Amino acid sequence: MSQPGRYEPNEYHRGCPICGLWDGRYDIGRGEWTYCVEHRLKWCEGAGRAHFVEGDEEKRAAYERLCERYGVDTFQDADDPFREE
Ligand SMILES: [Zn+2]
Repeated sequence: MSQPGRYEPNEYHRGCPICGLWDGRYDIGRGEWTYCVEHRLKWCEGAGRAHFVEGDEEKRAAYERLCERYGVDTFQDADDPFREE
């Protein structure tokens, strides 16, 4: 049962470890990230197939909009074994 505007996991994107859904994705740093706004978590997916290019202004701008809107830069990495619950 998904909430409106949120995504079910699929073959490319896992869901949030807490609620099982995800809100969006972006490319930055070591690859492609998916995130959950409600639980302030992000997780890296498919670093090996990421198309991120350092200096890609469009992706950089998209990422900065997400930082402003949701603060994704402060989300915790869901795969970090030391993250705080
Ligand atoms: Zn969640």
